Amino acid sequence: MSSIPAAKPLIDPFGRGIDYLRVSVTDRCDFRCVYCMAEEMTFLPKADLLTLEELDRMCSAFVGLGVRKLRLTGGEPLVRRNIMSLIESLSRHLRTGALDELTLTTNGSQLAKHAEALAACGVKRVNVSLDTLDPGKFLAITRWGKFAQVMDGIAAAKAAGIRVKINAVALKGVNDDEFDTLIGWCGKHGHDLTFIEVMPMGDIGGETRLDQYLPLSLVRADLANRWTLTEIDHRTGGPARYVRVEETGGRIGFITPLTHNFCESCNRVRLTCTGTLYMCLGQEDAADLRAPLRQSESDAPLIAAIEEAIGRKPKGHDFIIDRRHNQPAVARHMSVTGG
Ligand code: SAM
Ligand code: SF4
Repeated sequence: MSSIPAAKPLIDPFGRGIDYLRVSVTDRCDFRCVYCMAEEMTFLPKADLLTLEELDRMCSAFVGLGVRKLRLTGGEPLVRRNIMSLIESLSRHLRTGALDELTLTTNGSQLAKHAEALAACGVKRVNVSLDTLDPGKFLAITRWGKFAQVMDGIAAAKAAGIRVKINAVALKGVNDDEFDTLIGWCGKHGHDLTFIEVMPMGDIGGETRLDQYLPLSLVRADLANRWTLTEIDHRTGGPARYVRVEETGGRIGFITPLTHNFCESCNRVRLTCTGTLYMCLGQEDAADLRAPLRQSESDAPLIAAIEEAIGRKPKGHDFIIDRRHNQPAVARHMSVTGG
């Protein structure tokens, strides 16, 4: 009887097990959110991108090394040509039980088109970024987004049986008057909701992060004046801390890299669409995995490069936003590593 050798788990120098890989499958996007990108962006030449077959090989090597959760992100993952063929192919790891979860973070613009196929591939949850329920404000934040299309996408995902978690970046003076509305809407439609602090990543043109930054510690304290928030132990493998909203029965997560550093429990690494592995969202250090991938048909050089990279995963990030630190902490945009 043949036996499959148990995967050797990836453990970093601080004893953290790495079982979660986020993959930015493209740096391109059909939106230009003000906190994420400048309106005029120079994207990578298509020739620099890993092919879908190479992305599959990369992801599968990580699965072989004990990664149990894969999240595809971007840029906008669903604008990459033929992305469904990659998702279909990766879904084999769900069927073998090697992977617990295959999921994506999306702006929702293409979700109506793909929801049923995603569900058929075993995608059970998606994160959809939606910072406002006001169509005018939505256009101002995303610059190019179409609100109705995103609403249709969210409805299609729900109809296909996919759980939707809404991600909202908390933006001072932009959507901070709408948090109650978002909580009520998510409660009504059965979506969990996560608030995210603005992170200082990449140049965003004329805007400054200091103008946008709203500490979630303040948001949470304010919400507690009107909602009964009960701490719960819910974990999704990501960095959010959750409360239950007793009035709606829904959950709210808070991702607070700036007001509460969550690095001590970090279990993830991030791969870009060119095959660069970032061991920390908030640090520049990275490892090139494309060269070892292309060097040989065998995965041995790639696996060695992954293990070496995990061996230098840093302890944490150094994000700060204040008057003296009003420059991006890292030069790359969130769309390079996908958040
Ligand atoms: N395009 C997809 C989307 O918007 O969901 C996936 C990629 S996007 C970069 C992933 C998440 O990062 C989104 O929820 C977005 O709101 C968030 N994001 C982008 N730039 C950010 C920043 N500077 N600080 C905090 N969150 C950011
Ligand atoms: Fe595109 Fe997502 Fe960035 Fe908005 S947050 S510009 S949707 S990658």
